[in-house]
Amino acid sequence: MTGIDTRLIHAGEPEPRIEGAVSMPIFQSSTFDYRGEGSYYALRYIRLNNTPNHVALHAKLAAIEGAQAALVTASGMAAVSTTLISLLAAGDRVMAQDCLYGGTHDLMRIEFPRMNLGVDFVDGGNAASWRENLTARTRAIYVETISNPLMQVADLRAAVEFARAHGLISIIDNTFASPVNFRPAGLGFDLSIHSGTKYLNGHSDIVAGAIIGRADLIAQINRTLGHLGASLDPHACFLLHRGLKTLGVRVRYQNASALALARYLAAHPKVASVNYPGLENDPGHARARELFDGFGGMMSFELRGDVAAAEACLDHLTLPISAPSLGGVETLITRPVKTSHSGMPPTERERAGIREGLIRLSVGLEATEDLIADFARALEAC
Ligand code: PLP
Repeated sequence: MTGIDTRLIHAGEPEPRIEGAVSMPIFQSSTFDYRGEGSYYALRYIRLNNTPNHVALHAKLAAIEGAQAALVTASGMAAVSTTLISLLAAGDRVMAQDCLYGGTHDLMRIEFPRMNLGVDFVDGGNAASWRENLTARTRAIYVETISNPLMQVADLRAAVEFARAHGLISIIDNTFASPVNFRPAGLGFDLSIHSGTKYLNGHSDIVAGAIIGRADLIAQINRTLGHLGASLDPHACFLLHRGLKTLGVRVRYQNASALALARYLAAHPKVASVNYPGLENDPGHARARELFDGFGGMMSFELRGDVAAAEACLDHLTLPISAPSLGGVETLITRPVKTSHSGMPPTERERAGIREGLIRLSVGLEATEDLIADFARALEAC
């Protein structure tokens, strides 16, 4: 198999090139002529996720994670919800890491009961505790590679082994790591999910999702996706396809920049704590070093002082943009309590360790020294 950077450029590209086009053209056609297709799902139609733009993206995504198959969706949440809805039947349960992206947590907490689906939240780092949360109806285990927003690294190897031992489907949200830093199929995960809105696209200009993994499960999920209608439109496919080609250079730069910034913040007297698996004293460091090719561009931290201190620091920064979302070329900063995790009940947030003053940072592609200088000025002033 070629290196991931080669696969990002060449895997899935149409052969021969369409009219010689070096870039994948946009097929802005909802429907295609009937050529005797034998089943409804084989008809070429945007909602059925099988136009040339979808087909090329699916092959590229599967190739970069070394998996059997892939599927793009209208958003990251469409990927999460469609996966779970298609694999679970009424009465089934999921065992999920307790610290997850707020939208995923809300889906399990708010929507699941209405469908008679259950969730058991567990400490992703404490594999010994999972056994007692297993029920006869548990069907899947769900973790994030690097959790949002505390950057915890669950016991991923144990999650795969636990799933195999108990006949569960293992699902991992690989958004924060990106396929450059971690390829779940290699460790044995059945399915990997992405908010393609983030690193995969990388330019903060579309919302998209991806599901990558076992071909039989992807085929099953694709049918449900067609029923739910959460397909990705061809123009967004084109932008995601274009963004993917630079994923390797972007993520490796972000890995290096985030590590330098995390080290700077961890040593600053006004910073109380930094969550970043690349720091040697981080609880997830040993696992991250063993399993990942890089520690990622995401971190979170708390300042000494109250929420007002955190807000003052954000106000004094000039380069990072105060906005939710992540994984783009521009550095984004946010307080999760106000954005990504505002839907989570305060008691559950506190239990998970997501405090009011927590600041989450997505390191972009600006010069590292400019970012560090900006933080130095802001911390001096607050
Ligand atoms: N998974 C993670 C880890 C996320 O951070 C997000 C969004 O922030 C999602 C899934 C949902 O993605 P989207 O906003 O593309 O629906």
